[in-house]
Amino acid sequence: MVSSIGPRIKLDMKSTLPQNTIHYCPKCSSSEFSFKEDQSFLCNKCNFQLYINSAAAVAALIVNDKGEILFTKRAVEPHKGMLDLPGGFADIMETAENALSREIKEELNLDIKNHHYFMSSPNEYIFGGLSVFTLDLAYICQLKTFNDIHAKDDISSYEFIAPNLIPYNKIGGESIKRITYAFAKKLINEL
Ligand SMILES: [Zn+2]
Repeated sequence: MVSSIGPRIKLDMKSTLPQNTIHYCPKCSSSEFSFKEDQSFLCNKCNFQLYINSAAAVAALIVNDKGEILFTKRAVEPHKGMLDLPGGFADIMETAENALSREIKEELNLDIKNHHYFMSSPNEYIFGGLSVFTLDLAYICQLKTFNDIHAKDDISSYEFIAPNLIPYNKIGGESIKRITYAFAKKLINEL
């Protein structure tokens, strides 16, 4: 299931990839905008070069006092209705740690007391017909309290799931599956 996933996502020639979706130079609007092997576009008219990089995103690993992991349910596409970890994209010029606190407050009305880095996982996320590549940074988080928890923003609900009962086929993002799998394994090994 998750074990077959390698460190890098294999890219195929699907229609949502930037090289099949972006046809014009964003600087001079020329259609002589070609995609190269190093994952960049080069404009043959104005020489502008556009690199396709990963966008930074954060995911929170939060456990309650029963040892269950907190999942959210997505209210928006992609993967609407599927399980996710709390988190989201880092804003421009924002730290990952700030993005973590901000997203957890926005989605669940929770305050992080402390956190430490766990792992990263790359992802492809199709938004508006375009493949957006992310690098998801996962943090293990401790909270002040769960008392004020409620679902809002881009999630419809939340649930706590024991590490040995995680329904991986109901998790939307491949990176979130990998992060959750590694974290659940760690929790089970520590029992
Ligand atoms: Zn150009």
